[in-house]
Amino acid sequence: MENITVYSHNDCLIKDNGENHPERKERLESILNSIKDINSPSISLKEAPLADFESINLVHPQSYLDELFSMIPSHGLVGVEKEPYADTLLCSNSKEAILRACGAGIGAVNEMMKGNSKRLFCAVRPPGHHAETIRANGFCFINNVAVAARYLQSRYDVGRIAIIDFDVHHGNGTQEIFYNDESVLYASIHQHPLFPGTGLESETGVGNIFNAPIESGTSSSDFLKIFKERILKNVSQFQPEVILISAGFDAHKRDPLATVNLDSNDFYTLTKEIVDIANHYSNGRIISFLEGGYDLLALSECIKFHLKGLSE
Ligand SMILES: [Zn+2]
Repeated sequence: MENITVYSHNDCLIKDNGENHPERKERLESILNSIKDINSPSISLKEAPLADFESINLVHPQSYLDELFSMIPSHGLVGVEKEPYADTLLCSNSKEAILRACGAGIGAVNEMMKGNSKRLFCAVRPPGHHAETIRANGFCFINNVAVAARYLQSRYDVGRIAIIDFDVHHGNGTQEIFYNDESVLYASIHQHPLFPGTGLESETGVGNIFNAPIESGTSSSDFLKIFKERILKNVSQFQPEVILISAGFDAHKRDPLATVNLDSNDFYTLTKEIVDIANHYSNGRIISFLEGGYDLLALSECIKFHLKGLSE
């Protein structure tokens, strides 16, 4: 039984996307309430620090950040993309939320490398896996998991890192950032066709990218079989020193943005399988990042199963 450290911050709750936007603060509230509900002494909650620019610049150039933050309005909402995808929005307090979401990963890396915890979860918004080097999209501005990976390598001299992405959408940003980097494996299972449209099997990087596109209506058993054969097998062969997870819970059958049919307890099964690989190759070290998941009831259940899996 491993202890779990959860990084989050109130600033992540104040980012506003307007009415009827799926990426809303109630998502994170639902997750944090559920964690409180578990009421386990083996789960400790820590405040996410603000990310520093030097660390973010390991992935995103300062010119991109300057332009992004210069678009922040004093009131109301501003879309960072052109129509028809004008749903990645900045509000007056976006900067704090964005820097806390990224800072959670940096805090988690430091905590893990000090040897204080092997299993960490970043309960944050905005999410990150769609953010490319110089392009915000898909509700994402800074690629939180990518910054954590590069920070692990530059600050702590960790070599091979695997990023496993079970969000129902393809992490186009994470793939783009590491497309030519053989030290980072990126493996994603995702519904296709669906936003953002990338993630074909033929996108292989330098042999470090593994995409498993799945059809609308995919069942639990088919999903778990494909996850094992096309994601976990390749991660095992890579023998990562640390595993990072892009944990989206939108492959759940209740999710309004996709049509894959996972049950809540399936998130225990797939998390436990990742833990088994981490215990074998990675000294048990896993940092998981909240990405998508837009049904509040599903989120509150899935997070319990995810943390149960992480604790083993
Ligand atoms: Zn998603």
